[in-house]
Amino acid sequence: MPGTDPILELSDVEKSFGGIRAVSGVSFSVERGGVYGLIGPNGAGKTTLFNLITGVYEPDRGKVFFDGREVNGRPVHKLVALGVARTFQNVELFSGMTVLENVLVGLTVRTKCGFLGAVAHWPWVVREEEESRKTALELLSFVGLSRLSHSLASELPFGWQRLAEIARALASKPKLLLLDEPAAGLNTTETRELGALIMKIRDMGVTVLLVEHDMSLTMEVCERIVVLDQGRKLAEGTPRQVQADERVVAAYLGA
Ligand code: ATP
Repeated sequence: MPGTDPILELSDVEKSFGGIRAVSGVSFSVERGGVYGLIGPNGAGKTTLFNLITGVYEPDRGKVFFDGREVNGRPVHKLVALGVARTFQNVELFSGMTVLENVLVGLTVRTKCGFLGAVAHWPWVVREEEESRKTALELLSFVGLSRLSHSLASELPFGWQRLAEIARALASKPKLLLLDEPAAGLNTTETRELGALIMKIRDMGVTVLLVEHDMSLTMEVCERIVVLDQGRKLAEGTPRQVQADERVVAAYLGA
């Protein structure tokens, strides 16, 4: 049974593109402090749902609540400030910047220094820059990329780019982290390490919602899974319940 402290709640959420109903009447909640999975076949509506939660899209119908408040129609930057962060299916780093600079960009959401401050170089701005740099290096150490902090993001192997993107997402101090297919393109060892990292992120107190096609990772790290099919919620439950659900096997897992 779900607990009683949801950080995210979706109520009858719907989103169409022209004639395509990408997400239709979807309701579920994510308990604070958990690792939740969102699975389903290609085109099931998972990425659209992520975009609805992160403010990229506004639902045509239904409501999204984050941390107790309705957030329908809030733009992405407002949701980031409230504590929602994400990574993307195709890693979206600033390729011309170093790994450290990418994480520093993520930190700007939490810093007070505006344009004038940066130009004037007031002492408190310098102090804030030093603190930001220290935090960014700690985050890179947390994801295991310390030694690559000065490498150009574009020069990193793909698996490490994913880690850098996770560090950048964590820089905004999220309460909820959405990971969109984080294991795509990773080898078996990297995927296992990613599983351990997701557990560490949960242990930090960050709730995780994961879209993933790698079922061994999903079943290992998620305590609860929502299954989408053709825009609708097909099933929801523990990994064991979902794996045993004949409708889920027929629509997704069997394939
Ligand atoms: P995948 O596992 O392949 O990433 P998904 O479950 O994330 O799939 P979505 O990308 O959310 O599925 O797509 C759901 C449906 O909505 C699909 O039919 C898709 O073609 C359609 N769709 C998604 N985004 C748009 C858009 N911006 N414009 C038009 N149709 C879209």
